[in-house]
Amino acid sequence: LGGSISRALQQMSNATIIDEKVLNECLNEITRALLQADVQFKLVRDMTTNIKKIVNLEDLAAGHNKRRIIQQAVFNELCKILDPGKPSFTLKKGKPSVVMFVGLQGSGKTTTCTKYAYHHQKKGWKPALVCADTFRAGAFDQLKQNATKAKIPFYGSYTESDPVKIAVDGVETFKKENCDLIIVDTSGRHKQEAALFEEMRQVSEATKPDLVIFVMDSSIGQAAFDQAQAFRQSVAVGAVIVTKMDGHAKGGGALSAVAATKSPVIFIGTGEHMDEFEVFDVKPFVSRLLGMGDLSGLVNKIQDVVPMDQQPELLQKLSEGQFTLRIMYEQFQNMLKMGPLGQVFSMLPGFSSEMMPQGREKESQAKFKRYMTMMDSMTDEELDSTNPKIMTESRIMRIARGSGRLVHEVMEMLEEYKRLAKIFSKMKGLRIPKKGDMSSL
Ligand code: GDP
Ligand code: MG
Repeated sequence: LGGSISRALQQMSNATIIDEKVLNECLNEITRALLQADVQFKLVRDMTTNIKKIVNLEDLAAGHNKRRIIQQAVFNELCKILDPGKPSFTLKKGKPSVVMFVGLQGSGKTTTCTKYAYHHQKKGWKPALVCADTFRAGAFDQLKQNATKAKIPFYGSYTESDPVKIAVDGVETFKKENCDLIIVDTSGRHKQEAALFEEMRQVSEATKPDLVIFVMDSSIGQAAFDQAQAFRQSVAVGAVIVTKMDGHAKGGGALSAVAATKSPVIFIGTGEHMDEFEVFDVKPFVSRLLGMGDLSGLVNKIQDVVPMDQQPELLQKLSEGQFTLRIMYEQFQNMLKMGPLGQVFSMLPGFSSEMMPQGREKESQAKFKRYMTMMDSMTDEELDSTNPKIMTESRIMRIARGSGRLVHEVMEMLEEYKRLAKIFSKMKGLRIPKKGDMSSL
């Protein structure tokens, strides 16, 4: 996708005379690419119609930065679709909120419930999980297992078959225990069917959730719009979480779900593990969808910040999907040297907000320095390896001793490394733009 859109825009920039024909050709190319990314047909059509209205042909013809104008228009339109302008419900600590999860079977509800609970628990909430899925065999065991792992209280039953009763009892129980985030996991079916929606309606009516979250598997493609709409017609969906964004899905379905529910995407799931969960950020997501932002923005920043003689090698390694501890070390070094922190990697989803919270640059700086001290105790083999498995327990203990740090601090640093390596692995095989290329995004 990224390639073809980039190509389309590239063609634009190469054409010397911009007339309607060229604009149309460019938009056709973008349309094809967005459809391939599973963006709903109607959304794409509306967007291109808007863009034609917004992009003033005379401006283009007058030789203003043509590529920039069209890029910006496409980017803005997609951002507009993803931002329904209505904030999702805001939870308040200390006040009991009920959040109900809905979605088809296999969409990732149970997994996402735990991730959501875990995410809030880390931020000081007191979450609890209620298993109101009486449809799937083993549903309660699955939730119990997840909850236990995350040390989150849970409620469910092996014998009760009425999901409404379990949901109500669970919510009551946890309200008494002063939990402020009570999460109700529900059942799904393989297909959208009347019985499921009726059950969702009843659970919702009985538990009066403050927020209903629709969970959607990113790989369902063009089916996203109808599915989201079907759920919205039976319960008051207020937010969307898109799962399995670590797979091959391009994520265009997220746009459809937002359009169908008029609710924002709040998180994305990027793996099976508890912490593979990211706060959703519209702009980096759209950049990724268009295949422009992450990499080319990053490349441009690298070119601005990283010393000339180190650039080609670093870019080459990144495009090969190689992100070693040594690269991380060197990037920390650059960031500390050149500042302001966050410049280089700030456009990467999951990096800026988690690792370098805004306004806390000093802390981030201290963290980078701490990490670098630990890496100073590593061998060349460890620094240059792309296989995280080589970091055995004895090596971790040696590094902790050598750097005067605690074992868990070394492990935290390695986790951070793995997270970054995963982000960079997505860049594998992507084209590296030349300097200035697409820098407007
Ligand atoms: P439910 O039926 O909606 O409750 O879905 P589950 O939570 O049981 O998830 C179904 C499958 O999808 C499980 O194997 C999960 O591990 C997997 N899964 C859920 N979220 C993600 C994700 O973000 N990435 C990946 N790769 N797998 C996920
Ligand atoms: Mg489930």
